[in-house]
Amino acid sequence: MDIQAYHKVLKEVAHHKATLVAVSKTKPNEAIMELYKEGHRVFGENKVQELCAKAEALPKDIEWHMIGHLQRNKVKYIAPFVSLIHGVDSVRLYKEIGKQGAKLDREIPCLLQVHIAEEQTKFGFSKEELTAFIASGELLPNVKICGLMGMATNTDDTAQINKEFAMLKQLFDDLKEGHFANDPEFSVLSMGMSGDYPLALSQGSTMVRVGSLIFGARNYT
Ligand SMILES: *Cc1c(COP(=O)(O)O)cnc(C)c1O
Repeated sequence: MDIQAYHKVLKEVAHHKATLVAVSKTKPNEAIMELYKEGHRVFGENKVQELCAKAEALPKDIEWHMIGHLQRNKVKYIAPFVSLIHGVDSVRLYKEIGKQGAKLDREIPCLLQVHIAEEQTKFGFSKEELTAFIASGELLPNVKICGLMGMATNTDDTAQINKEFAMLKQLFDDLKEGHFANDPEFSVLSMGMSGDYPLALSQGSTMVRVGSLIFGARNYT
């Protein structure tokens, strides 16, 4: 845990009026509580079981974000309390969240994940799929689409990363001025991690997800 690094990241993020999601996956509750005592309340996890265990054990005013790939059969476990699901990467997942939201009579806040990286392995809608999905009129009442999320290619090539972030920002702006023009809640652009968050902020990110820089390297992910 590097409290100094946390304050440095927080300052940069605040300067851009963005939100810092502290990615605490694989880290113990004690580490989360250290940041909690600094006043931090927004934490991100990528495993449902771990997220539920931590939410159960830790203070109830923490906002829990599900940041990783989410399996449909696990949506029900986080649906009652999750603050934001970042990785809605398919229509089938979207529909499952809508179903669980309806059961709970809750509007579950979500981001649609867009595939912007060169790697084949990253999840998400292509730009074309996303545009088609939103235009399809299949939007459900119990899922609140609050914005978009993306992950850039894992590379040292900053021009490449900038290009990918700029593409996502453009798509976000197009939707904000188009389909979501009358929806002020469509306001979140989640992009940027430990390795690329300064680039993301300069490209208009409103939410960064930073883990290892704050909590130290992980043994597994
Ligand atoms: C793990 C993870 C992060 C944080 O990664 P760091 O490089 O440790 O900052 C951000 N976003 C997602 C989706 C992740 O799974």
